[in-house]
Amino acid sequence: MIAPGEWLGLMGGGQLGRMFCHAAQSLGYRVAVLDPASEGPAASVADLHIQAEYEDETALLKLAQRCRAVTTEFENVPARSLEVLAAHCRVTPGAHAVEIVQDRIAEKAFIASQGVAVAPYAAVRSEAELCSASANLFPGILKVARLGYDGKGQARVRNADEALKAFAEFGSVPCVLEAMLDLKEELSVVLARGLDGACEVFPVARNVHEQGILAVTTLDLEPFAMTERATQAALAIARGLKYEGVLCVEFFVLRDGQLLVNEIAPRPHNSGHFSMNACVTSQFEQQARVMAGLPLGSTRLLAPVVMLNILGDVWYPTVEDVQVEPNWAGVLAIGGTSLHLYGKREARRARKMGHVNCTGRTLAQAVEAANQVVGLLR
Ligand code: ADP
Ligand code: MG
Repeated sequence: MIAPGEWLGLMGGGQLGRMFCHAAQSLGYRVAVLDPASEGPAASVADLHIQAEYEDETALLKLAQRCRAVTTEFENVPARSLEVLAAHCRVTPGAHAVEIVQDRIAEKAFIASQGVAVAPYAAVRSEAELCSASANLFPGILKVARLGYDGKGQARVRNADEALKAFAEFGSVPCVLEAMLDLKEELSVVLARGLDGACEVFPVARNVHEQGILAVTTLDLEPFAMTERATQAALAIARGLKYEGVLCVEFFVLRDGQLLVNEIAPRPHNSGHFSMNACVTSQFEQQARVMAGLPLGSTRLLAPVVMLNILGDVWYPTVEDVQVEPNWAGVLAIGGTSLHLYGKREARRARKMGHVNCTGRTLAQAVEAANQVVGLLR
């Protein structure tokens, strides 16, 4: 066990890292962040910022010497860097799991190998593979295998010609072609798996995306039809990966009732932010607990909750590029709301700037509060 007062390390400097720092610091840890940017959401709250590239071996050694354990806040951290760190300290999640999850081709093959269904797809590493893809995959979505996020690196394609064009525009990098599915809803399961293999699973979240970016997450106290299946699928994936850390599994529910896995994130997830105000333990505290070898916390939901993402767009209420500070006092005056802003210097459209958790005694109350927030931030 790594005792409070000692150092924990983090690869990455975004908002997920910032919220990890806050949670680890609440438990009494000090946190060192490795991030190439000169400032950022995590670096500005960390106890130590090592400003260096993620592959910089000297910087990695410095991080590993300072910290007894290191975690990551983004899936595109070089797996090789996690291996370098692992020669000196505990690394959760491990390079083997991150390596699978950061490549959509390996990720889908792995999920299917665990007996869990994924969206119909074809791996596309060349024009030839694209030309031999089944006609059933059209209309579809071409997604770059690596480095995509928030709907970036994706193109909706109606036929093979459009797919070939998109493939060329992506620089002919490896991609997956997925059938465009008629989604009834999207779900996600965030869980923590400890060093001893014990798991704590957060309640299943219902998610609404807009333009490929998460907009709203909703949870009620009662389980619903898909709860058990989604939970079991997420657990099977975590066990199959021998995962250590916090993991998110995103699901599609189709109109015919099929439950498919969309993708996995090897870290806390935007759709798990509700846990910060609505659960006994937050997903970020779980991340710290796993790496420190502490017992996992309870994931029990204390109240119905609606999580609203705040994108940079709300700073631009008119079409012109004139910035207006949103009405935070108004948001905070609404009962049951908790505001989390990431301290980003610049508000840009489609950039994640913060989120609001709206809790209520009933889901209807939480939804009512969320509607008031949306009204203020429009
Ligand atoms: P990202 O890595 O950017 O989160 P995703 O693959 O999760 O990429 O896609 C983002 C969103 O786009 C999904 O949450 C979903 O709303 C929509 N989407 C992605 N793939 C499909 C699909 N095959 N059919 C229908 N909608 C999809
Ligand atoms: Mg996604």
